[in-house]
Amino acid sequence: MVGLFPVFIISLLFILLGLGHWIGRKYEHPWLGMAIGIGIFMLTALCYIGVILLHLWWQPNLPICHLGKCKKYKDYELIKLTDGSWVYRCCCGTYYILKEAEGKGRLFMVYLEDGNTKPYLKHTRFGRWKSDNRRVVEGELS
Ligand SMILES: [Zn+2]
Repeated sequence: MVGLFPVFIISLLFILLGLGHWIGRKYEHPWLGMAIGIGIFMLTALCYIGVILLHLWWQPNLPICHLGKCKKYKDYELIKLTDGSWVYRCCCGTYYILKEAEGKGRLFMVYLEDGNTKPYLKHTRFGRWKSDNRRVVEGELS
C-alpha cells in the first residue's frame, strides 16, 4: 500500500490540476481553480502525514527496550541487516533482533550472548507491541 503511494499522489495531483483548470475555465477565474486544486492536494498530504504519525504512535518501528530506558528509534543503533531481520543494539548495550513474522507482523527478540534469542515483544500486522511469551528459541539466527 505504501509502495503505491507515489503513483497515487502523482495521479491525484494531475486530477486536481485538471479539476482546477476546469473550474478556472468554467468560472473564468484561473487562480480560483488552481487555488482549489492546490488546497485539496495540501489537505490530502496533511491527512497522509497524520496517518503516518498515528501509525508510528500506535505501532512504533522499535518498541521500548526490556530495561525500559530506550524509547525512541534513535536510541537504537542498526548493527546488521540480513534477509528479513535487523539486528539492533539499544543504548543499554543489549542486542535485539527485529524479524518479520511471515506477513503476520514482527517479532522483537533479545539476542543472547550464546547465540540464542529470547522472545520479548511481538505485534500483529495492525496491532500494538505486546509481550511474546514463547520460550527461548535456539539458534534462530545461526
Ligand atoms: Zn535499552
